[in-house]
Amino acid sequence: MSEKADIRSMDRTELTAFFQEMGEKPFRAAQVYQWLHQKKAEDFASMTNLPGSLRQRLAETCRLDAPSIAELQVSRLDGTRKYAFLLPDGNIIESVYMKYHYGVSVCISSQVGCRMGCRFCASTLGGLVRNLTPGEMLGQIYAMERDAGERVSHVVVMGSGEPLDNLENLIRFLRLVSDEQGAAIGQRNITVSTCGLVPEMYRLAQERFQITLALSLHAPEDALRRTMMPIANRYSIREALEACDAYFAATGRRISYEYSLVQDVNDRPEQARQLAALLKGKNCHVNLIPVNPIRERDYRETKGPEVQRFKKELEKSGIHVTIRRKLGADIDSACGQLRRRIQQEKGREEAD
Ligand code: SAH
Repeated sequence: MSEKADIRSMDRTELTAFFQEMGEKPFRAAQVYQWLHQKKAEDFASMTNLPGSLRQRLAETCRLDAPSIAELQVSRLDGTRKYAFLLPDGNIIESVYMKYHYGVSVCISSQVGCRMGCRFCASTLGGLVRNLTPGEMLGQIYAMERDAGERVSHVVVMGSGEPLDNLENLIRFLRLVSDEQGAAIGQRNITVSTCGLVPEMYRLAQERFQITLALSLHAPEDALRRTMMPIANRYSIREALEACDAYFAATGRRISYEYSLVQDVNDRPEQARQLAALLKGKNCHVNLIPVNPIRERDYRETKGPEVQRFKKELEKSGIHVTIRRKLGADIDSACGQLRRRIQQEKGREEAD
């Protein structure tokens, strides 16, 4: 049996060529592209302006990889929606839907699991299972739009996975999601977060996208960073910051630095000053996130007054700082926690 074609991951040119090979006219490709990326169809049967025979042929030869909702948690505090999606191969991924005054922002996953090993992160505990396809990254957005009944305006690639460890699929996803004839989400409304895969950061810069790049820094010096993030053994902070500077030079997009505050580990005033010295003079933005404790580790979150103190210390050096608003505090909102719980339950059921 031959593999089914991954039609949702094809760009317009590829789709046209694919239809040509099938002996179909280019306008059919345009219709299908519209069904997939504007009307966000979940199956071929619903593509009502195509002849029935073509719909059937597409269903036989192509896969849509539409994720189905395995579990949905809605925060009673702020309406944040956390989805666990079931993929056709049985894997579970997580996505989050958040409503802000400026629109709807979703956080999507780029891999099933992750191999980066950051100490405080639940997504990486079981290692990497596989990369997500561009169609599966889009599929999370489309499924949430359909379920919540509202258009998504902003996307952050900050769910499970290291997006730059899946760079080719990420780039393809970014082209598709921002295509004006497709989902048409503006590149300036998209953020990709990386733990700092330096060569891939340079590669991404070459694409000249107008997306925001976020670097997960979390420590102001290498020795400490190595205890939190294994990637710090491969690249120094200096190398990662140089890659950020190159990204800014190539795109004009201000970098976001993520800094998860862990009590008594990286939240002392002198560490804020060290961080300020590193970033001084850069056109950048620091996002402080009190760490979300996970059961498997004993990290504790920095409390409100200390978070404020850290912020003020950075601001003294003219650095632009925000504190990540805690959304969905009443649901399993830390990266990878929901997926882990569901997979553990599944494992228990299977063992019974
Ligand atoms: N792999 C990418 C993107 C996914 S994680 C990256 O490392 O940037 C998105 C952000 O959440 C990263 O800054 C990550 O370090 C942070 N993060 C992961 N687990 C966390 C936790 N338990 N509490 C706070 N931040 C966490």
